[in-house]
Amino acid sequence: MAKYVYFFGDGKAEGRADMKNLLGGKGANLAEMSNLGLPVPPGFTITTEVCTYYYQNQRTHPAELKAQVEEALRNVENLSGKKFGHPENPLLFSVRSGARLSMPGMMETVLNIGLTSKTIPGLIRRTNNPRFVYDSYRRLISMYSDVVMEKAAGIETAEGKGVRVQLERLLEELKHKKKYKNDTDLTAEDLQDLTERMKKKVKDVLGKDFPDDGYEQLWGGIAAVFQSWNGKRAIAYRRIEGIPDDWGTAVNVQAMVFGNTGEHSATGVAFTRDPGNGENYFYGEWLINAQGEDVVAGIRTPFAVNIRSKQENNQQFPSLEEVMPETYRQLLDIRQKLETHYRDMQDIEFTIEEGKLWMLQTRSGKRNGIAATRMAVEMQREGLIPKEVAVSRVKPSQLDELLHPMVDPKTESVWHPIAKGLPAGPGGAMGKMVFTADLAEELGTKGEKVILVREETSPEDVHGMKPAQAILTAKGGMTSHAALVARGWGKCCIVGCGDLSIDMEKKIAHFGKKVLKEGDWITLNGTKGLIYEGQLPLVTIDPEHNEYYKQLLTWADEIRRLKVRTNADTPGDSAAAVKFGAEGIGLCRTEHMFFGERIWAMREMIMAEDLAGRKKALAKLLPMQRQDFYEIFQAMQHRPVTIRLLDPPLHEFVPHEPDTQKEMAARLGVSVETVKQKVESLHEFNPMLGHRGCRLGITYPEITEMQARAIFEAAAQCYAEGIKVLPEVMIPLTGTKVEFDHQKTIIDRVAREVMKEKGIKFNYLVGTMIEVPRAALVADKIAQTAEFFSYGTNDLTQMTYGFSRDDVGKFLYDYFEHKILPSDPFQTIDQEGVGQLIAMGVEKGRRARPDLKIGICGEHGGDPDSVKFCHRVGMDYVSCSPFRVPIARLAAAQAMIEEKKMK
Ligand code: PEP
Ligand code: MG
Repeated sequence: MAKYVYFFGDGKAEGRADMKNLLGGKGANLAEMSNLGLPVPPGFTITTEVCTYYYQNQRTHPAELKAQVEEALRNVENLSGKKFGHPENPLLFSVRSGARLSMPGMMETVLNIGLTSKTIPGLIRRTNNPRFVYDSYRRLISMYSDVVMEKAAGIETAEGKGVRVQLERLLEELKHKKKYKNDTDLTAEDLQDLTERMKKKVKDVLGKDFPDDGYEQLWGGIAAVFQSWNGKRAIAYRRIEGIPDDWGTAVNVQAMVFGNTGEHSATGVAFTRDPGNGENYFYGEWLINAQGEDVVAGIRTPFAVNIRSKQENNQQFPSLEEVMPETYRQLLDIRQKLETHYRDMQDIEFTIEEGKLWMLQTRSGKRNGIAATRMAVEMQREGLIPKEVAVSRVKPSQLDELLHPMVDPKTESVWHPIAKGLPAGPGGAMGKMVFTADLAEELGTKGEKVILVREETSPEDVHGMKPAQAILTAKGGMTSHAALVARGWGKCCIVGCGDLSIDMEKKIAHFGKKVLKEGDWITLNGTKGLIYEGQLPLVTIDPEHNEYYKQLLTWADEIRRLKVRTNADTPGDSAAAVKFGAEGIGLCRTEHMFFGERIWAMREMIMAEDLAGRKKALAKLLPMQRQDFYEIFQAMQHRPVTIRLLDPPLHEFVPHEPDTQKEMAARLGVSVETVKQKVESLHEFNPMLGHRGCRLGITYPEITEMQARAIFEAAAQCYAEGIKVLPEVMIPLTGTKVEFDHQKTIIDRVAREVMKEKGIKFNYLVGTMIEVPRAALVADKIAQTAEFFSYGTNDLTQMTYGFSRDDVGKFLYDYFEHKILPSDPFQTIDQEGVGQLIAMGVEKGRRARPDLKIGICGEHGGDPDSVKFCHRVGMDYVSCSPFRVPIARLAAAQAMIEEKKMK
């Protein structure tokens, strides 16, 4: 019989941490903590297979499920000494979702299941605490009606019209009427009365009675968790994070423990290290007399768990360390146990019921790039993990955050912030304020810089949080939804800005006395939690000052096989890339060298009627190009530099507007008509497939000749000065060996001439881009004469898919929507299709020339997944923009580690 239910509790469990696929992350770790002997309330996990079954079988459960759940339920009853539905000693349950990977707040939780008119009086008698019982009941009504009766039933509501908001309004009205400040001021009578009114409201809004039967509540909760897997929010989150739809979620049903029974009870969320900067100390937040959701939802400002974690906004509140020192020590002990066991930073949830500590969750904690880097390096130094694990711990894309902008400290020192909040996501950002996620999405996806400003965020805002430059919330702590999500993405974020209040009607925000409108610019310093009016300049700090970053990349360099070069075509970019660790230039595009004032020589060449005229114009370009190359060689010193000959079609160099055509005619001393005719003659229907690349050099060999001469003369000059440069001359858009040979003959001849003229011998290579599919197919032939290959995966993707690289944006979104493409093939190599051509080209090329140097210089060279693919097919190097060099270095090391694991 299939096993669908796994029990845990009392120091034992049927599951383990490595069963995440079946039990979800939460369920697997609850089992693991039970096995470790930590205090975990007993419960059971319904597997992800049941979720899959549910969707494959018209939303029904497998037949065996009911009996298995009942058996597990009896086990929990036996362990807890309470009974589900019992009028005198009732057991209550929480029902929580838990997928393989954590999807913070994306799916559903219902607490206090089992409170009914039959069990409430008994629980009051038993606890002698009616306030607690009615507080728990109002939470159940609120969560259950929202999650089960509204969302899972597929009822869509406009913003602010959902049942939960309407119920919360009743609570706020009551507090207002009674002049209470906090939820904890509500008395038992207030809450009892409130629950009656809440149930009426549920009936009014949803047309159904609130269920008064424990089993109905329990099965309703279980089905709602499964339903929530396919809720709008969860789907949106999966899209963003690339989580497959068919994983499904597990359901965790666990005996309730209560943090809301009074002053000796509490609840909290903590991290075993600081997730904001990675420092090794226990960091967390807690609330007295509360249930877990209160901390995360940002309803009350949470207190710091210890003196060390106190922040500006909770300085005055007592820490757990001070209030319950014994329990705090126990928690510290558990922190230690968990870190040693999991060998990673953990994000934990705990509840204290009448002084007794209970663990409700542990999982690997989300962290930003700065924290990830520091923790990885320090854990290696502490002996918790080996170097390879440290290098694998940091996502290459997380390094981006270390390389990313911050508010310019000089400007910031003379500006006054208009408000302050908690620094939840580091770095700087500026943008126009928007107050709804929809508007953030609309403007952000159009490329406008916006900052999403909200009272607090909820999973319903995720679609607008992603395209925003940053997130700012009035409420919430460092573990609030906004903080968790932003941290996961490495986005700048400030939460808990007490001075901020938003007037949605008037579309204005008050920052203390300052009033700004939606659409006004603000700048955030997410590292310090400061908010400024207007646009402050952003700068990028030199990551070389971060010792953890340097150490991690030094380890990465020791591990990786793949070399990392850069795409650069100015001395400045080249020098910056060397600082980032570039080991050479993999692509120097020469086309920019024909613009600016030089364009006139280029236009003169285009207008020339014969070879002599073209040569005269090219002679003007030669010294300028030679100087360009000389400076780049200087910046790169002894490192190899791949220079690509002219690639774009000539029409890109002539004007298309009548005014500029007139100017060109006057400057070159020809008639406007002649210019017009020339421009028309250069027009092509498919310029990307037209007269470009080596086709230009074949029609106009004098261009190839001039460029080759400029390269070699610059190299000779460097040699004369003692710098042994290695120019690699690259021919673009080769499709046949004959094309390649035609160009190589010219280049070799010029090299011989220059060596003879200068009396200097220098080394050089002649190779080709592989960017036309045919080149990959006949790579063995081309490699007979080509000394290196560099994959131009931009064009190769364009020509393999037949997608115009300049127009793909028009339909790409539809392709994602209909799941026709999993990702943008211009960003991440399509391994199945384009990848086959690449692998074939490598294999055939090396068959003809075993020492053939092979790299990639398309945009994919800086994409971590693509870098790993390049490693696997045996390339020698990847080449990417300067900022992505560190990312590629780390990805290359991870590729090597993954390869070793496979063996
Ligand atoms: C390519 O096609 O991948 C390439 C690097 O060349 P370009 O982007 O200049 O066409
Ligand atoms: Mg190209």
